Amino acid sequence: RPQVIALDGPSAAGKGTLARRLASHYDLAHLDTGSLYRAVGRRILREGRDPKDATYAAETAANLQPVDLKDPELRSEATSQAASIVAAIPAVRANLLAWQREFAKAPPDGKQGVVLDGRDIGTVICPDADVKLFVTASPEARAERRFQELQAAGANPIRRAVLDEMASRDRRDSERATAPLLPADGAFVLDTSDLDADAVFDRVVAFIES
Ligand code: C5P
Repeated sequence: RPQVIALDGPSAAGKGTLARRLASHYDLAHLDTGSLYRAVGRRILREGRDPKDATYAAETAANLQPVDLKDPELRSEATSQAASIVAAIPAVRANLLAWQREFAKAPPDGKQGVVLDGRDIGTVICPDADVKLFVTASPEARAERRFQELQAAGANPIRRAVLDEMASRDRRDSERATAPLLPADGAFVLDTSDLDADAVFDRVVAFIES
């Protein structure tokens, strides 16, 4: 059974579903690290501040409270954009590092291992992870998934806007100087464009147990 699974990839590539399934299959604790950046971005928006203000964003990251991770607006589009803006600030990343490493070192709920999903888990947070995965998919496939998710949640999304917003977040996540989105050395890279959640899970388990 793996002790640390590092799972990276762009938004809507299927990380969340895969991480939850791996956690349940191997009885691991799961940390969705995007929620930390979302919580920082959301708190800044709620306080009427500018997510580009590096000093304020770094302070917010340093003072993040568990209650911030329960904000009902964490998944909104405005929060997604704010999250990727604060994620490009090196001091924000540095201030969230200890929280993530601590989770990996001392898993909660008596679990013996962890799965962390994000953008830099295999490259920065847990470079010694015993399993490194990078899941990706075409921008069209990812936008379509996000579109369906939004519809299922009762929203009335516009396809073009969903694609554009994803492209602007992709650009920010892959062009930033600190921890740009890249597969870690030795990562198992899986393109999920033409795979459903079951097929993704089966391939990853086959890789882990190979
Ligand atoms: O994964 P999710 O879409 O929830 O992440 C929100 C944003 O947080 C991403 O667009 C990215 O900018 C940032 N992020 C990051 N590093 C991580 C996880 C998320 O930079 N490990």
